[in-house]
Amino acid sequence: MEIYPVGLEKTDSRCLRITWSDGQILDIPFGKLRGACPCATCKEKKKGEAARPKSSLSILSAAEAVPLDIAQMRPVGNYAYNVAFSDGHSSGLFTIELLRGLGEATVTVASDSANSVPEMRSNT
Ligand SMILES: [Zn+2]
Repeated sequence: MEIYPVGLEKTDSRCLRITWSDGQILDIPFGKLRGACPCATCKEKKKGEAARPKSSLSILSAAEAVPLDIAQMRPVGNYAYNVAFSDGHSSGLFTIELLRGLGEATVTVASDSANSVPEMRSNT
């Protein structure tokens, strides 16, 4: 069975929320999506950053200093999406597979299950 997005939306928490054909709903934070851009420019940039000594400070451009947003998402064929970011970068092609891999499950179950562990009390 092919899995493909059936719904795309932006959440208030700056995530791209994708509803998948198998019923899963996964969120991808904008920053994570931007960082995973698979285009040649970003790959080169990442290589350069890895080579730079950790002590040097990176200088943010004006576009990088404002909160990131997704300006547009356009399907390319039926295998990928072209994502345009608010910083003007729009050459990344995100395959369906990549988007699925980046998605984080939205937490719907309360994590403090310790409070719901049944207690045993003696009636004496
Ligand atoms: Zn890129």
